Amino acid sequence: MVHMLTVTLNNGVVMPQLGFGVFQVSNEDTTAAVAEALRAGYRSIDTAAAYFNEAAVGQALAESDIPRDELFVTTKLWNTDQGYDEALRAFDASLEKLGLDQLDLYLIHWPAPARDRYVDSWKALTRLLSEGRVRAIGVSNFWPEHLERVIDATGVVPAVNQIELHPRLQQEELRAFHVKHGIATEAWSPLAQGELLGDPLLAEIAAKHGRTPAQVVLRWHVQLGNVVIPKSVTPSRIAENFALFDFALDAEDLDRIAGLETGERVGPDPASFGNPGNP
Ligand code: NDP
Repeated sequence: MVHMLTVTLNNGVVMPQLGFGVFQVSNEDTTAAVAEALRAGYRSIDTAAAYFNEAAVGQALAESDIPRDELFVTTKLWNTDQGYDEALRAFDASLEKLGLDQLDLYLIHWPAPARDRYVDSWKALTRLLSEGRVRAIGVSNFWPEHLERVIDATGVVPAVNQIELHPRLQQEELRAFHVKHGIATEAWSPLAQGELLGDPLLAEIAAKHGRTPAQVVLRWHVQLGNVVIPKSVTPSRIAENFALFDFALDAEDLDRIAGLETGERVGPDPASFGNPGNP
C-alpha cells in the first residue's frame, strides 16, 4: 500500500494530492519517466493534448500491473480545440491516445478569453461528465471572472482549477475564491521549474528538517492543501519529490516561505495566452 494523501473533489471523486507532471517530456522519454514514477509510488499522472505525449503515457499505464481504479489520469483540452463539438472530438482523440475507456479528470487548458469559446467547451465537458466518460471535470489558468461565467452558464462548478502556483506566486486571492466555491486548487510548476530551489531560505529550512529544498517546497504545497504535480525525468528526483509524508513544516517555516512571494511567473499570462495568434 502506497502512503498517499488525497483530496475529495466537489463531486465526491477522490484524487491523490501528489501527482506526476509530464510537460516538456518528449514522447520518447515519457514512457520511462511515467514507469519510474509509478514504481516510486505516484498514482496520478498529469498530461495534456498539447504535450504530445498522451500515447506514451498510455503505454506506461498499459505496461504497469497497477489496477486501473488505483490510477488517476488527467489530460487537457487544447486552445485550438475549444468549442462544443470540437471539445467532444478532442476528448475522443485524447482518450484513444491514452488507451483508456474513461478519464479521471479533463481540464480546459486555458481560458483563451479572446477566442470566447470556453463556455461552449465547458458545456461539452459537462456532457462528458453526465455520460460517465470522465469522472471529474475542471479548468486550468482560469480567473474568477472565467470561473463565474462557466458556473453561471451551466450550474456546474469546476472540480479543479490548475494554476501556476509556487512560493514566488502564491495566488492567495484565487485560492480563497476556490475555497469559497468548493474548487480544488492544483499547482502547476510547483517548483517554479526549479528556479527557486537555490534560495538560501529554502536551503536553511531544508537543513533544519534534513530534507532538500524541493521537498520543502512540495511539502509547503501539501500543507496549504494544494494538489501538486512536480515533473522530473531524473529517477532520484522522482523518488525525492514523492518522499513528503514523513515530515512537516512548522508555523515559522510556513511564515518564512510566505515571505518569498514576488508575483513573478515562470509561465504565460492567462489573460492573453491561447488567444488567436498566441499561439
Ligand atoms: P516544475 O515546477 O515541476 O519543475 C520541473 C523542473 O524542476 C525540471 O527542470 C526538473 O528537472 C526540476 N526538478 C524537479 N524535481 C527536482 C528536484 N527534486 N531537485 C531539483 N530540481 C528538480 O515544472 P513544470 O513546469 O514541469 O510543472 C509541473 C507540471 O505542471 C507539468 O509537468 C505539467 O504537468 C503541469 N503544467 C501545467 C500547465 C498548465 O497550463 N496547466 C503549465 C505548466 C505545467 P529534471 O526533469 O531535469 O529532473
